Amino acid sequence: MGKTDRIYQRSPFWLQNAMVSLYGAWWHWLRFGGDYSRYTEEIRQREFFTSSQWQEFQQAKLINLLRLCVDDVPYYKNNWSQSQKESALVGDLANLPLLEKKALRGFESSFYRQASGGLFKQTFHTSGTTGTPISTTFTLPELRESLAVREVRSANWAEVSFSQPRATFSGRMVEPDPEEKRNVYRYNAAEKQVYFSAFHLSPATAHSYVEALKKHKVVWLTGYAVSYYLLARYILEQQIEVPQLKAVITTSEKLTDQMRDVMEKAYGCKVFEEYSTVESALFASECEHGRLHVSPDVGIVEILRPDGTPCEAGEVGEVVTTCLFRSYQPLIRFRLGDLAAWDPEPCPCGRQMPVIKEVVGRIEDVVTGPDGRQLVRFHGIFTDQPHIIEGQIIQETLTDFTVRLVPTSEFSEMDEHDVRQRMRQRLGDQVTIKIEKVTSIPRSTSGKFRAVISKVK
Ligand SMILES: [Zn+2]
Repeated sequence: MGKTDRIYQRSPFWLQNAMVSLYGAWWHWLRFGGDYSRYTEEIRQREFFTSSQWQEFQQAKLINLLRLCVDDVPYYKNNWSQSQKESALVGDLANLPLLEKKALRGFESSFYRQASGGLFKQTFHTSGTTGTPISTTFTLPELRESLAVREVRSANWAEVSFSQPRATFSGRMVEPDPEEKRNVYRYNAAEKQVYFSAFHLSPATAHSYVEALKKHKVVWLTGYAVSYYLLARYILEQQIEVPQLKAVITTSEKLTDQMRDVMEKAYGCKVFEEYSTVESALFASECEHGRLHVSPDVGIVEILRPDGTPCEAGEVGEVVTTCLFRSYQPLIRFRLGDLAAWDPEPCPCGRQMPVIKEVVGRIEDVVTGPDGRQLVRFHGIFTDQPHIIEGQIIQETLTDFTVRLVPTSEFSEMDEHDVRQRMRQRLGDQVTIKIEKVTSIPRSTSGKFRAVISKVK
């Protein structure tokens, strides 16, 4: 846990709100500063590119990016063969090797360009839905461009904007007391944003979340799909009155038809799915016709068969992506661990951006606390744990948990203590936690890694 987190946790409620707002002001500057407006304008202009314009655009970007990799990025310089480098220099992506998450873990910096990307860098840590937590580093222009993409292709398509009041469910620990029932969110005045705690959601707290929407005049919702789904169920069960909302844009987990139905009923507005990753390795969002369009300016997305050849439209395969706008830490043919299929039907909206028919996978178990609270994306406890290679949480009963860890040689008592503390912070003190150190974590029969397994139904 960082020093700032510790100070935050010991601060009174009003000071936490002030800290959240200060942090928000910093983000506000990050988002809207510099070339942000230019990026949004360019992203908007490209939206009605024809397929051949998109291809030209991608190929030009790709050649530049691959040249940088050959000349200036240690990992590719050292690992690509001579013939692979020659392919790279002519933009022949299909001849380049696939990149595993494991190659990145612990060696993130060997993917940095040697030329400096400017003074400012922002590093994000992933929690490892696919088993391997990694960190990813953005320069300031890259961060702004990634935010601009979300504004134009996600928020604007849903007829909302990041300049409007919104609520967010994310992995942020906004309320340190796991027993808290009322103060289950914090307000960031600078961004007019309500940060919902994803760790306090239960039938008993549902009304506090809805109160926050009313109090802060929230217009739209974004964040964890499963959290909004659970809240929607409580809202319907308890017949809680929800203020008028314009849209819900879900992230992080797959949105099923059933989840969408329940949410549209509870929130009284349309629900849109966004499919992206912390690395901004790809970006897909739903247009007004409910089709999931891939943004070709964010990345080149391939859907591949096990033998490495591209899938036909409609055929499910593995998603591999080459991020085009991040050149400081380039990811070339990055294996996301997700499965998906292309949709052969063109979209009536007229955009010639490829459509993903369905993202398969990224379905996780929900953890249930002793008091009935339900928690999603629980593998967040492995975020920014440099001494854990892989981690898995198994809920045996309402109060018994097993945590399986593949530790590095530096793993110590301190790390183990940290894991226990993060578990208790989310579930309260009544739970028992068994930690098992293992050399590997078995995959499911379909070969997928399961970060969270619940035996409680
Ligand atoms: Zn469309």
